[in-house]
Amino acid sequence: MQKLSRRQTLTSILAAGATVAVPPARADGATARVSLLLINDIYRIEEKNGRGGMARFAAVVRAERARTLAEDSHLICVHAGDTLSPSLLSSFDQGAHMVDLFNDLELNAFVPGNHEFDFGKEVYFDRMRQARFPVLAANLRSAAGMKLPRHEDQILIEAGKLNLAFIGTAFDGTAIASRPGDLVFSPTISTVLANAEKARAAGADLVIAIVHADKATGAALMNSHAVDFILSGHNHDLHIDFDGRTALMESEQDANYVTIADIEVTQNRGQADRSSSWWPNFRVIDTAKVISDPAMLAKVQMYSAGLNRLFDVEIATLAAALDSRTGALRSGECAIGDLVADALRSASAAEVAIINGGSIRGNRIYAAGTRLTKRDILDELPFGNKTMATKVSGTSIVDALENGFSQIERPTGRFPQVSGLVVSANPAAPPGERVKTVWVNGEALDLGREYKIATNDFMASGGDGYGMLAGKTHVSPDSGTRLVALDVIDYIAAAKRIDAKIEGRIVFQ
Ligand SMILES: [Zn+2]
Repeated sequence: MQKLSRRQTLTSILAAGATVAVPPARADGATARVSLLLINDIYRIEEKNGRGGMARFAAVVRAERARTLAEDSHLICVHAGDTLSPSLLSSFDQGAHMVDLFNDLELNAFVPGNHEFDFGKEVYFDRMRQARFPVLAANLRSAAGMKLPRHEDQILIEAGKLNLAFIGTAFDGTAIASRPGDLVFSPTISTVLANAEKARAAGADLVIAIVHADKATGAALMNSHAVDFILSGHNHDLHIDFDGRTALMESEQDANYVTIADIEVTQNRGQADRSSSWWPNFRVIDTAKVISDPAMLAKVQMYSAGLNRLFDVEIATLAAALDSRTGALRSGECAIGDLVADALRSASAAEVAIINGGSIRGNRIYAAGTRLTKRDILDELPFGNKTMATKVSGTSIVDALENGFSQIERPTGRFPQVSGLVVSANPAAPPGERVKTVWVNGEALDLGREYKIATNDFMASGGDGYGMLAGKTHVSPDSGTRLVALDVIDYIAAAKRIDAKIEGRIVFQ
């Protein structure tokens, strides 16, 4: 867009009743300094590789709170959604630990993401009842069209003599992405536009939208210039954008990075519409450089210790030995590969499953008679991959298998482990021509038919060359509601006795 001079901006946009982003050099009205601090998509409470986690995040919040207090500025902490699921801990307490930890941090606003509904509507209501922070969701209503208890469409926060309006919206694709029951989600953009108008009419000096939305929605909202600032979640991007009128921030995920905008707002006195001018200065805090807050660290460690105890429990006995050595998983059918693929297929009620051998990492042999623990399964499936169910054509299944066999000369993680399929292949043929016959549950594969397939989100998003397994499903870093490891644990625990053997699912001619 054309960059307007300050004078042009003031005259042309004030006429439209909007605020303007200009350096507030001419202090002819009330001024305020505000710092917007954003996190989003927090699944993991511990740090990972020395970065992220709640203890480092708490240290950032406490340092910023002390700074803003000393400088007569205002700190506003926002969580833009996705936090109750999926994680190992959430599988036990359905996200209660997250609400507990965020209750300690005095968030100023939270918007629900799609993952808040992974355990259903009632659990969501329970968690929001436990929350001691404002929950904003202007586009979320009951089936009867009513605002939900403890939810607001927007809130006004006073900063000195200035009023800042915060409008929140939940992820508008939640009905497809998660399990919100009969709750109704309206489109993000029209909801924000309508609420922005209300906020300006009520005299807001700055209008901030907190949205859990995809990239296209965030960009469209920015281009609409209906609000001054957009705080976004869902895409797991470290993203800062500013076109001179509207700004957008997103803070990657898991508090690895925290984005902060320090804004000076000046109310333009004498304007009937209370228009104001403002200018943002952006900061990105890399939490690898932050020393953990001791009190929050103690709480995180308490939760982690509890989780450890929960995973040191036996779930099944092995009737036959199980081999998870890397070389075996990357060169041929493996009993443990069959087991994991069977578990995903069962959890997804799919016709077939394909997983990459590289996703199984224990690299050991379990003797017959071993009592498997939940911990063993976590060690085998350490990546935090999520289960994905999609629909793909028979042709895509062949393409996926060809991709899986394409590097067989030098075993790699893409070697497929399958369920519901019997495949014969010729490893001596050129890559792309190695698959000879494919049977699906006893019938010859129909290239033109659609099949429901289970896989993991790493593959469906293109990992190891398996992008064809997404089918028509839009797969993002946010896709999937259950961890692969948890689906496998449940499957094995239900079986109690595991007698997995190589069955001839993949046969080399
Ligand atoms: Zn999301």
